[in-house]
Amino acid sequence: MFAHNKRLQYTVRVSESNPGLANLLLEQFGGPQGELAAACRYFTQALAEDDPGRKDMLMDIATEELSHLEVIGTMVAMLNKGAKGRIAEGIDSEAEMYRSITGAGNDSHLTQVLYGGGPPLTNSGGVPWTAAYIDTIGEPTADLRSNIAAEARAKIVYERLINCTDDPGVKEALGFLMTREVSHQRSFEKALYAISPNFPPGKLPPHPEFAKVYFNMSPGEGDVRGPWNSDENFDYREAAPAVDGGDGLGEVILSATEDATLSATIIRTQSDPASDPVTGAELGMGSLDDDSLETPSQVGGSEK
Ligand code: MN
Ligand code: MN
Repeated sequence: MFAHNKRLQYTVRVSESNPGLANLLLEQFGGPQGELAAACRYFTQALAEDDPGRKDMLMDIATEELSHLEVIGTMVAMLNKGAKGRIAEGIDSEAEMYRSITGAGNDSHLTQVLYGGGPPLTNSGGVPWTAAYIDTIGEPTADLRSNIAAEARAKIVYERLINCTDDPGVKEALGFLMTREVSHQRSFEKALYAISPNFPPGKLPPHPEFAKVYFNMSPGEGDVRGPWNSDENFDYREAAPAVDGGDGLGEVILSATEDATLSATIIRTQSDPASDPVTGAELGMGSLDDDSLETPSQVGGSEK
């Protein structure tokens, strides 16, 4: 079950109205790296998880992310409070209202006019939140890696947002939210390494003849060797087709009916390499050197 506590996980102190900043913060409300995406990601993973430790951790973190959603959403609402009253009561002249709304920065006019200053489930560009942000696949050694990357991305977005404001209260709360993502990343990493073995993900082993091969698919000046392709770690090979030793071509075995039908399609749509058809684009150009081409007047009846 869920119960709501009337107090936030972290106190939100906003110094002044700032609809432009509110709009930027929406990135972490309804954006791909935002708190709703994080909460839904871990909540759905927790529901399916059978390991008691991971299930408990996922539920703890999912619930904390919902609490973060509340904090960031509250900041958006506070930053929009001044504009909310102004536009709802229509106290300014139309020109002054227009200037204050459109001059607030980025797309904040949209959140004010369309959403009345409340936090919509969109990102900072107005793109609606979507469940497609969540890439859970139901295998913990793959999902935990994705969760680690998701926390890293969320941390970076918070860092960028912190660099966009000098409001001390907003900076402080964003710093808390950023720090919690670092802590979550650490838990997910520990949980991943608590599964042994965890690499590669899944049960099927990789094919040994390709598992430790590095293909230099972009050969030439600029090739760099490092641990990601070193001789100690990999068999470094130059790009070459058909690494399996076959002819590198695609083939399929068809039934007699399939074969006959496909052949008919191929014959019907075959190209004639010896042809040189006149195109509409060429006719439209009008002044072609080739006398054998019809001029536009001949085609269209124009006097020109
Ligand atoms: Mn969070
Ligand atoms: Mn997190």
